[in-house]
Amino acid sequence: MERKTEPRVVIGVVPSGEFQGKPMINQDYLEAVFRAGGLPTLFPFIEDTDQLFRLACMVDGLLLTGGVDVDPLLYGEKKSPLCGEVSSIRDAMEFPLVRFAAEKGIPVLGICRGLQVMNCALGGTLHQDLLQSFSRDINHSRPDAPADPIHEVRILPGSLLSAAAGAEALRVNSRHHQGIHKLAPTLTACAKASDGLIEGIEMPQHPFFLGVQWHPESMSSHDANQQALFNALVRKGREFRTSESCGATIIFDQRKKA
Ligand code: MN
Repeated sequence: MERKTEPRVVIGVVPSGEFQGKPMINQDYLEAVFRAGGLPTLFPFIEDTDQLFRLACMVDGLLLTGGVDVDPLLYGEKKSPLCGEVSSIRDAMEFPLVRFAAEKGIPVLGICRGLQVMNCALGGTLHQDLLQSFSRDINHSRPDAPADPIHEVRILPGSLLSAAAGAEALRVNSRHHQGIHKLAPTLTACAKASDGLIEGIEMPQHPFFLGVQWHPESMSSHDANQQALFNALVRKGREFRTSESCGATIIFDQRKKA
């Protein structure tokens, strides 16, 4: 019997962790992409930017995962004693990847550290420790309750995020001790917590450049609004695949024209 299943949209996922130089991934990210109808593929640690961009052009979308802190030197600040562990290999690959995706219109969803990298790569800065330099109204650092709703976020009506999540408020988990200080000039805040912290960012003019400060991958198996963020990434990836924007589309375009 002839199978007419359309090939799945391929989403490149950056490693969410590093152990003695080896890439690691939290399986929740991969499962959320797969549930969305996408095919996740894990990127290696790679510092050769040209080869990294070639890899980025072979996928239909990118998922930037959570993890350790961004090196404050990269946003022009000295490392505070309260800044946590950093990963030079992740910084070295994710900063250029963000700029490339922004320029090429590659759909990208950034989660937690992913949002922070998106902001810093485009000229923004972070609070190195929220309790120290931002506010104590909400404790955003709750790794003890990884999938539990800790605080609410209000979503900007009419934003990409509100369309993707299908909601204008969400109860979200919170596993971060850093957060956005200065927002990058090309980005807009599309979600905020009640203490005023930016919990969602997006880029107007870009088809899908979305970052969230919480961890939807930990809630998406049982919360349709959280799964909807991955569904939106895969949907935009499908549109991107059929566009002419990047070398990624060559294989599919040739098949279409044949
Ligand atoms: Mn939070």
